[in-house]
Amino acid sequence: MKQLVILGGGESGIGAALLGKLKKYNVFLSDSGKITNNYKDVLINNEIEWEDGGHTESKILTADLVVKSPGIPDHLTIVQKLQYATIPVVSEIEFAALNTTANIIGITGSNGKTTTTMMVYHILKHAGLDVAMGGNIGQSFAKQVLTKTANYVLELSSFQLDGIKNFRPNIAVITNITPDHLDRYDYKFENYIASKFRIIMNQTSDDYLLYDSDDEIITSYIKSHQIQSTLVPFSLSKIVTNGTYLEQNNIITEFNNRDVIMPISNLALEGKHNVKNAMAAATVAHLMKIRKATIRESLEGFQGAEHRLEQVLTINKVKYINDSKATNVNATYYALESMNVPTVWI
Ligand code: ADP
Repeated sequence: MKQLVILGGGESGIGAALLGKLKKYNVFLSDSGKITNNYKDVLINNEIEWEDGGHTESKILTADLVVKSPGIPDHLTIVQKLQYATIPVVSEIEFAALNTTANIIGITGSNGKTTTTMMVYHILKHAGLDVAMGGNIGQSFAKQVLTKTANYVLELSSFQLDGIKNFRPNIAVITNITPDHLDRYDYKFENYIASKFRIIMNQTSDDYLLYDSDDEIITSYIKSHQIQSTLVPFSLSKIVTNGTYLEQNNIITEFNNRDVIMPISNLALEGKHNVKNAMAAATVAHLMKIRKATIRESLEGFQGAEHRLEQVLTINKVKYINDSKATNVNATYYALESMNVPTVWI
């Protein structure tokens, strides 16, 4: 029996442990912190060996394969020792992908990942496809792979992408790139950019990369690197070929044919940034041959994720909006820019 060691007992670690067990590995999960009681129960009920409050090195170093949770940085002693012992260390995304042949849509970027992921899922579900959503949102990808599904829509953080080797999404989306999490990237923006672009490192011309072609960081990276993926730009400001753009406030996709998807005034979510997210989601759906009417209906009815420009209540004609998920400067910039009435920012 092959030894699988999981480092980290959070959502992704538990998912990987369950998948490892299903795939007949001998699984050992180790967390240097505390594992929550509900996750402990899952491990106990599934007869998976575990420890918390420290790492037993002798046990960990017997692994054939290690799945490391995205929150654990590479410089940790145990990770260094595994590398020294040339024991493969991968992310839960890689491990899950190894165990499925489903169609994968991977979505990354500094902002807009959750919203775009939810929009794509919403459209595909509405179209009647067999689809699950996961990764950095909701349930881990590994947990989703426990039950067979034809299509996975995954929100992917750069930390999750750092641990991939052969992961290859059929459709990749990079929503935008602005400086974030630089503490994990030696304070070098170029390292963070390269991490985001790992999403396409195994793609071929059979796969697609959708990207915001108004984002200069993304376009200059694409210009200066050999990209195998079929490129699909989307833009708010210019007409693009083989991609998606705006014309008189209509979202247009243009591949072999020019298709009017919908007017932006019919989108359920407000704000320029959400037009971009909707363009990305509509383009994914279009590439998956979903009917225009279905895409339109889905985006008209999309409710949005909690705490992202969420309209909470109105008191004395003052509208209160919760945007607590705007966790970096760029997100806040777009949120404030989308306000068209006098705004007090708290
Ligand atoms: P993520 O999952 O990448 O953190 P979310 O979809 O949760 O992104 O959105 C987080 C915040 O980022 C939102 O509150 C919004 O203000 C902002 N935002 C959403 N989409 C975009 C975008 N495409 N470009 C810039 N900012 C965005």
